[in-house]
Amino acid sequence: MEPATYIWDEGELIPWADANVHFLSHALHYGTAVFEGIRSYQTADGGSAVFRLNEHMVRLDASARAYGIPMSYSADDMSKATLELLRANSLESAYIRPLVFHGVGEFGLNPAGSRVRTMIGAFALGKYLGEDGVKNGIRAMISSWRRISHDDFIPTAKGSGAYLNSALAKSEAKRAGFDEAIMLSQSGSVSEGTGMNIFVVSEGVVHTPPVSAGILCGITRLSVIELLEAEGYDVRETDLTRGGLYTVDEVFLTGTAAEVTPVREIDGRVIGSGRPGPVTVRAQELFAGAARGEIEEYRRWLEYV
Ligand code: PMP
Repeated sequence: MEPATYIWDEGELIPWADANVHFLSHALHYGTAVFEGIRSYQTADGGSAVFRLNEHMVRLDASARAYGIPMSYSADDMSKATLELLRANSLESAYIRPLVFHGVGEFGLNPAGSRVRTMIGAFALGKYLGEDGVKNGIRAMISSWRRISHDDFIPTAKGSGAYLNSALAKSEAKRAGFDEAIMLSQSGSVSEGTGMNIFVVSEGVVHTPPVSAGILCGITRLSVIELLEAEGYDVRETDLTRGGLYTVDEVFLTGTAAEVTPVREIDGRVIGSGRPGPVTVRAQELFAGAARGEIEEYRRWLEYV
């Protein structure tokens, strides 16, 4: 991670190196925190803009409410704080990480006795799954770990502790020589990647798993659905099977960090031609165009810094 100059800490801009928390913070021990991942991009007109900032902060607020973490700042305050941080750090494009976490307080699992703290970091970040991955596609495996379910966690909320599940799957995949893991739901249907949603293209129709498969409702997922539908593509929420994935024409992943990344191989089976397919490439172009303010209609998604 490339250090930036400042971190936003409850209304103050503090030096990057001073953004420390106490060892006995509740969240460090039990994962009692919620977070977001947001990106800003340099736009076609030279300025910098945050992609769907308000939607991310509304989701942060919803994640906090879902896990019962009292927010000290409104979604609107968090958006303003993000813009202030980006201006102070002079980052042309950035990955933005707000975190709302339980700090030091009473000992024990009940977080209610621990003060809630809110911080935001922003730093430069390249292609999460690599330049080569974005251009030529990545190699994925089906994880031996199942995605968290609606019975044990809240998959639609970005709760920190739940990411131990993603970290298990990601590290298993990397150790086995793959770039990414695709996780199945508890019932065995395809859910998503470790930090990204999945799409497949089969016989001209675009499919993506529904919320019941334990997915996080990705903002990139929603954006790509809207962008492809506007181009006339038929996009459906469908329960997908592991075996079915092996024989579809195209597979791609979407997420703030991963953007739109093609998958060229799953469990050693080559997907389609082994090259990013036409729908994947179109989704990449549309997403990049929208994020960089090149498509008039989608400038409404941008918050200029
Ligand atoms: N699933 C998980 C588990 C994630 O962490 C993310 C990243 N936030 C996504 C999907 C993609 O969501 P988004 O497009 O909003 O970044």
